[in-house]
Amino acid sequence: MKKTICLLPGDGIGPEIVAQGVTVLEAVAKKFGHEFDFVPALIGGAAIDATGEPLPAATVEACRKADAVYLGAVGGPKWDGIEPARRPEKGLLGIRKALGLFANLRPALLLPELAGACLLRADIAARGLDLIVVRELTGDIYFGEPRAIEERDGLRVGYNTMIYDENEIRRIAKVAFETARQRRRKVCSVEKSNVLETSRLWKAVVQEVHDADYADVELSHMYVDNAAMQLVRDPSQFDVILTGNIFGDILSDEASVITGSLGMLPSASMGAQAPALFEPIHGSAPDIAGQDKANPLATILSAGMMLRLAFGLSAEADAVENAVRQTLRDGFRTGDIMEDGCTLVGCAEMGRLVAERL
Ligand code: NAD
Repeated sequence: MKKTICLLPGDGIGPEIVAQGVTVLEAVAKKFGHEFDFVPALIGGAAIDATGEPLPAATVEACRKADAVYLGAVGGPKWDGIEPARRPEKGLLGIRKALGLFANLRPALLLPELAGACLLRADIAARGLDLIVVRELTGDIYFGEPRAIEERDGLRVGYNTMIYDENEIRRIAKVAFETARQRRRKVCSVEKSNVLETSRLWKAVVQEVHDADYADVELSHMYVDNAAMQLVRDPSQFDVILTGNIFGDILSDEASVITGSLGMLPSASMGAQAPALFEPIHGSAPDIAGQDKANPLATILSAGMMLRLAFGLSAEADAVENAVRQTLRDGFRTGDIMEDGCTLVGCAEMGRLVAERL
């Protein structure tokens, strides 16, 4: 198989971790007889420095021509003083919008090899944590109009609009049900329908999609406040969590952080058509940038998601995940997941060790 992958290394540790992802993808290509063509482009602070814009038109064009987009991270203190409309983070929001990436998939998995890092009580962690949050990414209160801060009767008021139409709900629900069919066939739809009209429509449409086409998948509904609690009380009850943009933003961070290792967690953002975008969930970690200390495993596992979801290469994706686990079983750790009795390695060495195990 021949595929073009647009590389957006970005800022901070971005270039270091993406380089290790490329090392692993090259090892996959060699082992399985594929050809991956890597096309680098600028985003975030690196793009601001070179062109004045966080998302140059040439980057959007390079992404559109590619079969998949592979991103490191954007941002850092160097660009914190820039006006909000031109900050590095605008590059990320801009590319999601330009590519129509409405579905954000974030698996949170507690590897037995890293059980010691989990923030939950041992008896809760022992029940397992292997879930995926399917979050709607282009609608909801983050984009709804009208929105403003204005003065009314001498008082400043701020307001936003929480809004979804049924088509937006239907397409993300389908992604969740399809995802569940590849897993344990359970979807929990999370909303706040006891208070919000938007959520009442959400719940009704999710149920309709289920009843029409996905009766083989078990569907449950949960209020967001309860879901936040259940995630720490017993995350083993969840397989796929389906939710909107703002609730998903918060719950997916919660689900990931309880595994204890930010540097381990990948993500995929997908639209109605290719290319999809794959990136680690963490940021640019300016505090350790350029020191060969970053954990590249979230980025490498994001390449695994790319192989599986963008290219349909399940055996190759399994091989990447197994190589990561074998590297951990062999006792190699970067600083963020270091434990007694393990061998401390840098970012580049970790990438090499995973590639070697392929
Ligand atoms: P961060 O995720 O960059 O870092 C939080 C902490 O985790 C830091 O101590 C960092 O050293 C550590 N860390 C993160 N990734 C790591 C890895 N792979 N290996 C080892 N340690 C790792 O979050 P932050 O400090 O809040 O943000 C830093 C910058 O990143 C900001 O400019 C922020 O806007 C940006 N950011 C970007 C994205 C993105 O590009 N998707 C996401 C979040 C934050």
